[in-house]
Amino acid sequence: MKPKNKFHAQVLEASKTLPKLTKEQIKWGYNNGIDYIGHRTGKGVITCTKCGHSWQGECELINTLLGCNCPSCKTKLKVEITKKRVFSGSYYMTIVTACEGFQVLRTVMIKCVAKVGETTKYTHSEVMQRWIAPNGKHATFARLRQTMGTCYYDSWIFHTPLELRQEIDVYNRVYTGVVYPRQKLIPELKRTGYEKALYGQKPLDLFRTLLTDSRAETLIKAGQTQLLKRIMDTGWKNIGNYWQSIRICIRNGYKIKDAALWCDYIDFLRFFGKDLHNAKYVCPTNLNAEHDRYMRKKAKADARQELEKQLEKEADYRKAKEKFFGLVFSDGLINIRVLESVAEIVLEGKAMHHCAGSYHSKTDSLILSACIDGKRIETIEVSLSQLKVIQSRGICNKNTEHHSRIIQLVESNIPLIEKRLAA
Ligand SMILES: [Zn+2]
Repeated sequence: MKPKNKFHAQVLEASKTLPKLTKEQIKWGYNNGIDYIGHRTGKGVITCTKCGHSWQGECELINTLLGCNCPSCKTKLKVEITKKRVFSGSYYMTIVTACEGFQVLRTVMIKCVAKVGETTKYTHSEVMQRWIAPNGKHATFARLRQTMGTCYYDSWIFHTPLELRQEIDVYNRVYTGVVYPRQKLIPELKRTGYEKALYGQKPLDLFRTLLTDSRAETLIKAGQTQLLKRIMDTGWKNIGNYWQSIRICIRNGYKIKDAALWCDYIDFLRFFGKDLHNAKYVCPTNLNAEHDRYMRKKAKADARQELEKQLEKEADYRKAKEKFFGLVFSDGLINIRVLESVAEIVLEGKAMHHCAGSYHSKTDSLILSACIDGKRIETIEVSLSQLKVIQSRGICNKNTEHHSRIIQLVESNIPLIEKRLAA
């Protein structure tokens, strides 16, 4: 892609001065970015796929459960008992560097092919670069990817040039892999307090957030990194929901350890209209207990709201089903009647622990309750268009011993329903 604007042109110009990857960096990637296998034969001879050394291993269980280290090259190996003779794998490493005032992330794919009894062969290719300006703006260089006939989004075509490309989401999904420990930072990023910890984030996201929003910097410097992680995990734009309370915590030296729980708790406080500036609320001594207390309160409030919402539909229900009210069928033992209000249906669903409680809004359904001596046995749903029973359920959706008898009783009285339907 030709540079589309001044920013692109600047990045392109700067990229010409970016040095080649060093042998040291690549070697580090091979040593740290690959999961090496210990190939174990049926007789217990292990071959290290990193250096090719073979030796008689310990008992199978120990090696499999605890893993093992190659006695020759000391690499930690994942032991696999297999007849396979060739192991290959692709991995990523990322190098964090600075160039001409830009923060640069260089992503390298490393591949290894190990054959038992042979020296392992390695290859690498730098497949992507993200160039980040001090203001957080970024551009991406990448090789082309094969997109036809593959389900992988990172089937890089290695002979294509590492070129400025249009920004697409795929680049954000490419795995970061291991991060080379020696990092070069632009001063703007260094000032934010970034100290090589990524808090479970992709470097691009973390760096851009740190460079564009001073609140991220504040969180790092105040040691509230759990919060930084949590809020980035759930979308950084949510920071606004918590920021006023976070400031109170920082001012009071209140360290948030379980950030997910704390954020949930703040959401509860907001729901109940509590003062989010008040340390009494936002810095609880026992977060767990307070969280649980509000959670129960919220569950109750939700249930009440849900009920109110359903009861509002009372008039609609009456209008739709009124003509069936008063219908009762009995065979002497079982009494079946049409439920005559939303409240009755909700109550039925609650008493029977099934989902009939929401069925009042189903226009094609008529809900009836089967009782013996006033005790609920099953709840019946009749389809008005098909004029037949579509389900009959006892407590917790189980059928009772009266199940077939109930269905029979309703089916034999379908003409009564039909007559009302026609009226
Ligand atoms: Zn080895």
